[in-house]
Amino acid sequence: MIDLRSDTVTKPTPGMKEAMFSATVGDDVFGEDPAINALQHRVAGMFGQEAGIFCPSGTMTNQVAIRVHTQPGDEVICADVAHVYLYEGGGIARNSMASVRLLKGDRGRLSAQEVKSAIQPDDSHLPRTSLVCLEDTVNKGGGCYYNIDDIRSIRQLCDENRLRLHLDGARLFNGLVESGYDFKEYGSLFHSISICFSKGLGCPVGSVLVGDVDFIKESHRVRKGFGGGMRQAGYLAQACDFSLDNHVNRLKEDHKRAKKLGEIMSQHPDVKSVTPVDTNIVIFELREGLDSGMYVKLMEDADIYAVPFGPAKIRLVTHLDFTDEHLQAFETAMLNMKSNAIRRI
Ligand SMILES: *Cc1c(COP(=O)(O)O)cnc(C)c1O
Repeated sequence: MIDLRSDTVTKPTPGMKEAMFSATVGDDVFGEDPAINALQHRVAGMFGQEAGIFCPSGTMTNQVAIRVHTQPGDEVICADVAHVYLYEGGGIARNSMASVRLLKGDRGRLSAQEVKSAIQPDDSHLPRTSLVCLEDTVNKGGGCYYNIDDIRSIRQLCDENRLRLHLDGARLFNGLVESGYDFKEYGSLFHSISICFSKGLGCPVGSVLVGDVDFIKESHRVRKGFGGGMRQAGYLAQACDFSLDNHVNRLKEDHKRAKKLGEIMSQHPDVKSVTPVDTNIVIFELREGLDSGMYVKLMEDADIYAVPFGPAKIRLVTHLDFTDEHLQAFETAMLNMKSNAIRRI
């Protein structure tokens, strides 16, 4: 099976499992889990922030952050393709009772100018703009990443307008190993960052939200209310710690393989176009007349698994468990796909 549906499909490596079993744990709701405390401290430090809080999922870290940064009736600015808006179960409305202002961006990357035009004037008829959420890398933008200068401009705008700036950094490591930006310099530009360990870093569970001490203190209250207070979860945190030592620099390999997948698909007769491949995500559009749902089924017959990403688009994601052998097998299978596709569809 060649599983390119998501970078969440990875299983813990033997080394990671060993690390997990060696964790020293305690009750984290009492703040007494050494492995969790160490991870929170480490991740906050890496990104130039004061403190961190461990949560079960990236959805929870994003939703906790949005809840802490907003009041009911406020407005959140984000891209129309943002995970926080599209893929978190309507969480912004459900958890924070906030409205959302959607911007187009460039492949989901916002500019300061665009954000500026979306800030509501101070008028009681209008929702109060209080938060800007960026995503880096942008999932629906095909894994593209921000230029740090654009983020600096957005932060400056936020400061001028008393807005908070949150980053959905589910795939932040993918962006940073490509851009080469200094983690601290980049991370300090945000009021809060959500970092996922169950994507490219290959952990079974886990996300850390970082920010200043007051923000994290309030996040503890919100996390508890969301049911996210865990007890001896240090076994999970230890996996995350292991991944920081072992799985960050290797992300470049995923990116290389993704680029190769992009090249294979851009030469494929069934494909109209491929979004530029910047990190580990490949989005391709099928030529007219081909349906992504049917095409994905066809790929499954060849033991290749992908997800439809719109009526004619398909997404492939490379990860820790996708090897050069898989890449070779993918190429061979896709070369044989064309005639089948025409016959079947
Ligand atoms: C996966 C993902 C998340 C978090 O999702 P969980 O499944 O809750 O961990 C957040 N943002 C983006 C862009 C993602 O891809």
